[in-house]
Amino acid sequence: MAGLAPYAAREQSSKGRLYQEEGPSHRNQYQRDRDRVIHSSAFRRLEYKTQVFVNHEGDMFRTRLTHSIEVAQIGRTIARAQSLNEDLTEAVCLAHDLGHTPFGHAGQDILNTCMRDFGGFEHNLQSLRVVDVLEERYATFPGLNLMFETREGILKHCSKTNAKKLGELGRRFLEGGQPCLEAQVANIADEIAYNNHDVDDGLRAGLLSIEQLAKCELFAEQERYVQTKWPGLDERRVVHEVVRRMINSIVNDLITTSTADIKSNTPHTIEDVRNLSKPLINLGEETHRKHLQLKRFLRKNLYKHERVKDMTENARHVVQTLFNSYLNDPNLLPADFQDKCRQQKNGKSGTARVIADYIAGMTDRFALAEYNKITGLSIM
Ligand code: MG
Repeated sequence: MAGLAPYAAREQSSKGRLYQEEGPSHRNQYQRDRDRVIHSSAFRRLEYKTQVFVNHEGDMFRTRLTHSIEVAQIGRTIARAQSLNEDLTEAVCLAHDLGHTPFGHAGQDILNTCMRDFGGFEHNLQSLRVVDVLEERYATFPGLNLMFETREGILKHCSKTNAKKLGELGRRFLEGGQPCLEAQVANIADEIAYNNHDVDDGLRAGLLSIEQLAKCELFAEQERYVQTKWPGLDERRVVHEVVRRMINSIVNDLITTSTADIKSNTPHTIEDVRNLSKPLINLGEETHRKHLQLKRFLRKNLYKHERVKDMTENARHVVQTLFNSYLNDPNLLPADFQDKCRQQKNGKSGTARVIADYIAGMTDRFALAEYNKITGLSIM
């Protein structure tokens, strides 16, 4: 691909796909990956999965789907500015949350607790499982058969125990090293996206106030600028101006810092990038500190807000009830999942994994409907 930095990901030097396939005719391999993600059923279900607010709380809040699209937008800007592979970055960004459970982090945490005796549940690993195994769309292979670099980007974290089962893909979690720069971009684009859109959603929901947010330097700096330049601007526009300016300033800082970090580490190839002990896509020290301050603020004031906590408690209860009910009586599962349970070789652990796959794939509303069907109770 013309114009790519020498250390960017290229099809020619790719570690390829798990199953051999003919190359695409009018797209490159990473565009094909992106397209496969968009056509997957897990991607469509992101529309009805919680980011912070449960889907039915309002039509204006982010969902996992709109979050993923915002991540891709930020990721592509950074990738293009750094002459990295924009198509690969986009594919990773759109796929990064495919394995997320219903009800956001609350759902994932409780599913991990339920799976404690059966190998646990990690949402990054689940995203990989979706694209490697769970999607059933193609005649000749399971999953989406994505390129190595796309899968490398999806697997942001992984426990050592699980990394050992992943061969080449798990190596960096055991021996150190970094993923390709496109994966590093997607990783940080995720954080930039949620820190900023959660400010917007938190204000819209009335759980955060502008006065409160003024304690965060990133917010305060931009708010001061906006209020001075456009005195009397109505609050909605102030918020949007501030948020867009925050994203812009963080992204600009990231591009400047990363350009300098790449220059001083002089990688010549993608392998050079992988062999480094530290990532090369970084925020500058000051911006990193302010970004962290915003992140901590959101954790304390938004994610642990009474109203969000109520949802968290309900979500835990729903997921736990579903898990226990299916484990006690797998006949409650749909026929195809019962078949999958029967095909498992390792007994109860195998059944538990099928159940975790089933629950993780649910949308919020489907999980609530299942809960209602099984218990006769309504919640949320
Ligand atoms: Mg995300």
